[in-house]
Amino acid sequence: MKINIGALRKSLGATLATQSELPPFSVNWDDDVKAVSPIHVKAKVTNTGRCLVVAGTLTCNVELYCDRCLKPFSLQLQTPFEEEFFERNAGRKQADEETAEIFAEVSTYSGDILDLTEAIQEYALLTLPYRALCKPDCAGLCAHCGQDLNEGKCGCEQVSIDPRLADLARLLEEKKEGGKE
Ligand SMILES: [Zn+2]
Ligand SMILES: [Zn+2]
Repeated sequence: MKINIGALRKSLGATLATQSELPPFSVNWDDDVKAVSPIHVKAKVTNTGRCLVVAGTLTCNVELYCDRCLKPFSLQLQTPFEEEFFERNAGRKQADEETAEIFAEVSTYSGDILDLTEAIQEYALLTLPYRALCKPDCAGLCAHCGQDLNEGKCGCEQVSIDPRLADLARLLEEKKEGGKE
């Protein structure tokens, strides 16, 4: 995603609004994530004098697998982002070692073209949830038979104790504690 910043870089404080999209496959998604829409990017570029600040939002629809029930589900990823771009060789001599090191750490541009592709690729990956859940209260699968508990209970013995047995368990517990004294 390239933006022509020819006019912008010449005037301090100037801004440029832009929107574009990247094809889904341009991001190196995890194997179990499938992007099903392009990555929409809306951004504003500001010339602060020190650098160009790009601030905006990216949106993308993906399909991934629920961590609990393992079913595929779709999710809209949306995140704000902000990235600073510094001009390479802006009136400096070709980078000495120290400058080269600094420039390896930050996003840069040179000439009239600002390329957002790499920054967008990174932000898109950061947007993926740490835990992928098809719904917040997904019941998951039975640990014994693998039945999807969202679709109903299976015949397996559940971990929760029958209320009548719970009484008995409490009595036993009390007896044990009583014996210690
Ligand atoms: Zn689920
Ligand atoms: Zn079961």
